[in-house]
This record gives sequence, C-alpha cells and structure tokens, in this order.
Amino acid sequence: MTEAPAETGQKPFEPRTYFAMALDPIHVGTGGYRLGRVDNTIAREPGTNVPKIPGSSISGVTRTYTAMAVQSSDPANEKKMKFQTIRENGVVDSCAGKGARDGEGHCGKAYCEVCVPFGFSKKNSSIQGLAQFFDARILFFPVYSMLGPVWITSPTVLASFGIECSVEPEKFSAVTSTTITALNFGWLMLEKGSATPLDPNILDQLKLEGQPGFNSIQPIIKDKIYILPDNLFSQVINDNLEVRTSVAIDPATGAAESGALFTYEAIPRATIMWFDVVYNDPKYFRVDSNEIKKNDKELADIDWLETNVKLGLKFMESLGVGGMNTRGMGRLKVFI
Ligand SMILES: [Zn+2]
Repeated sequence: MTEAPAETGQKPFEPRTYFAMALDPIHVGTGGYRLGRVDNTIAREPGTNVPKIPGSSISGVTRTYTAMAVQSSDPANEKKMKFQTIRENGVVDSCAGKGARDGEGHCGKAYCEVCVPFGFSKKNSSIQGLAQFFDARILFFPVYSMLGPVWITSPTVLASFGIECSVEPEKFSAVTSTTITALNFGWLMLEKGSATPLDPNILDQLKLEGQPGFNSIQPIIKDKIYILPDNLFSQVINDNLEVRTSVAIDPATGAAESGALFTYEAIPRATIMWFDVVYNDPKYFRVDSNEIKKNDKELADIDWLETNVKLGLKFMESLGVGGMNTRGMGRLKVFI
C-alpha cells in the first residue's frame, strides 16, 4: 500500500487501495513454458515466489472494460464510441486495448474517459495514463486444513498495511484468540506459537470491514485467518494452487490431439487480494495544449478518473482477468 505525501496543500496524486476476491481460479500466465510439474505457470513475485496479478494485466483489461462501459452507457453519442467505431471507409477506431492501427485508433481527446486515465500514444500527441496500476497481491489465501478451510496471511503482507505482528518460526499465530493448537495441512502440521493474537479487529485496521461486497464473505473468514511465517506462507500457497489438466483439441478432427494433455496453475477461488491505483491529478497535465475536462464546463479531477476506472473494474467480476476464461476461470470481484 502506498502512502500519499504528507505535506499540506493540494496533492499532485492520490493512491487508492482496492480489495478483491477471486470468484473463479485466476490464471495470469508468464508466457507458457514448462517449469517443474506444470506446463503453464502463473506470474509470481520474484523475491517471495508468491503468485500475483501484474498491474499491467489489471490495467489492460480494465481499459477495455471501461471502454465497453462508457460506450454502452450512451451508444447514440458519437463521443462515447470508445470500444469500437467503424468509420464509413471501414477504418476501425477504438480506445480499448493497444488501440487499432498501432495506437492511431485511440481517440486521444482531452475529455476521453479511456485515453486520459489509461494513456495513449499517437504519432503527434500522447499522454501517460493518469491512473497507475500496481500488482494485485495476495492478502488472505484459502487453504484446506483438517479443520475445514482457513485463510492464511503473513507478517510481511500485514506490514504492507502498517499492521505489526510476529510469529515464531515453524509455528502459526492467529488473528483472533482461538483454542485451536494445531493446523494440519495434510503434509504439514503446524503448532500454535506463543505470539499474542492480533487485535481482533484486523479487518477494521485493513479498512476491509464494511467494504461493499466483502460483507457476504466476512462472517465466513473472520475467525479463520491465520498468520504463517513468510517462508511457509509462500510454500503453503505454492502447494495449494489450483492445477488443472486440459487437453488441446485438433480443430480439423474435433478430437483430442495426441500428446496434447497440458496442465496449468491458477490462484484459487476465494483468495482475497489487494492492489493500489495511484491517480495523478489531471489539472497538472495537458493533452496537446488542452486542459483535461470531464465535460464542456468542468475540469477533470481525481474523482473523475476514479469513476471511469471503477466502471471497468466492475466488469471484472463478470468478464474476468487473465487467461483460460473460456474454461471457467478469471472472474475477480473488486469491492467497490
Ligand atoms: Zn479515447
């Protein structure tokens, strides 16, 4: 989590944190080569080996979904044809994605709900995206234990939120006081350490409590959050990723190709994640020499950027992020 600068006066940027829950297994791949037992591996944090969703993936799909949302909000308005416009001469314009025609298909207007937050680069004008997306990281990871499902986290993860806690090596510590003295993950048995449980209202400290969308799962996970040492946190996650096997189909025969069985891993359903978006104040930027406006009269501000980004984030719970989403994967519910 990034902190805003503390000085008084107008801030040139503002970080906002979003929480999200995987509704399906999520596979954001690394390009698909075989590493160990899995053919298609997912993106990971290099230092900890903990899986993540790269900020570029979140930004990319959100851009497309914002364009879809804006266009569908007012399909008759030519200014709102953000997702796709087909001109009379057959030329396609789109503010989604990388832009048709090598970026020239982005409209690049100073009032564009897509090009301003996500950026564009045309031959004669460009602007960096005023919304900067950071990686989505795992906050609480669901694991099956002999007690049923529990959600694990680690001191480093909680430290990102300014929450200090300790856990002894090879032991676990609980978020709320619990009578449970051992956690059995099948191959790994951990005993409870002597660290004092965190103040029970950790969800409050995380500002997660009361987040719309979190309320339905909160009672289920609230008393089942356990803190593992960082090294075991990574290990238990990597041993509990969803690994699926699929088979490639030969398009000519419609039958399975021989030797085409492949496996892919994914962040499992019910994982709770978080990510930051830093919004740069549009008043410090120009598109060509034009001020950035939300409409004919008003200058754009950080809230306008966030509103447009949220339109896209909202679609992620239906349309998903990452690959294999025709195989029932990828939906991420962002709590907004
Ligand atoms: Zn545009």
